[in-house]
Amino acid sequence: MLASQILAETFARAGFWVQSFPEFKAERRGAPISAFLRWDETSRIHRRYKVQECDVLVVVSPAPPSPEILGTVRPGGLIVLNREPRFPHTGPFDIARVPASRIALENDILSSEGRPMGNVAVLGACVRLLVPDGLAFLEEAVAARMSGAMADANVVAAREGYARCAKQHAVAGDTPVELSPGPEHASARRRSRPLFAVSTTDSRGNHTGTWSLDRPVLTDECTACAVCALFCPEGVISKNDGSMVVDYLYCKGCGICEVVCPVRNAIAMEPVSA
Ligand code: SF4
Ligand code: SF4
Repeated sequence: MLASQILAETFARAGFWVQSFPEFKAERRGAPISAFLRWDETSRIHRRYKVQECDVLVVVSPAPPSPEILGTVRPGGLIVLNREPRFPHTGPFDIARVPASRIALENDILSSEGRPMGNVAVLGACVRLLVPDGLAFLEEAVAARMSGAMADANVVAAREGYARCAKQHAVAGDTPVELSPGPEHASARRRSRPLFAVSTTDSRGNHTGTWSLDRPVLTDECTACAVCALFCPEGVISKNDGSMVVDYLYCKGCGICEVVCPVRNAIAMEPVSA
């Protein structure tokens, strides 16, 4: 999840619109998790739903992806693997590999159990493949998320992953990934759009209500029972002088309040006018 957030921040620093969210399954230590990223160079991202198919699959674990996971990659897509040997495949997608666990070992980036944590080295490879001139932005994003020796080691790992990423070909040997255009290009794009905060800890700094396409409107039928306030994931419904009030500055328009309301016609989602 941290890797997804750092990559999202890298895209944001490089001037892209971006969206990042994790998916957790049954909770247990060491259980695999997935995180998803959408990015767009030209416009805001309004899609809020789960990702079923992807253009790029990034596998941070050194274990090879299962056929089910590979099946989520669209034809013509790209798979980035934490892996040194060739990956045997016949699918309609490109493969890039980076020895991320080895890089983590070389730089003493280990979990509390002593396992190499190659996530940032994998990000180095992703940035080389996906973010033009993005290494400096990745380094900034790593430094913003970590501190001290851990930040220094991971910045080195990011550079190593960037440098040691190779594309795998079906017949020919591996080739290094071609570098994208020069630094003027990146700084021009960075200037073209203000940087926004990337955080999953506290939404008060972001006026997340500006994202919403719909907003809940309460009617006179509302009994102020406050069930909607109980379920609102943003905590933006409150009771004031016996009436329910929605703070539209932070309401994301998810519609949960409308679904859980037990009173007919008490609340309805309406489109936000431009
Ligand atoms: S759950 Fe429905 S009736 Fe109850 S306070 Fe919310 S909008 Fe009103
Ligand atoms: S739409 Fe979602 S975020 Fe907005 S008030 Fe309803 S439950 Fe809360």
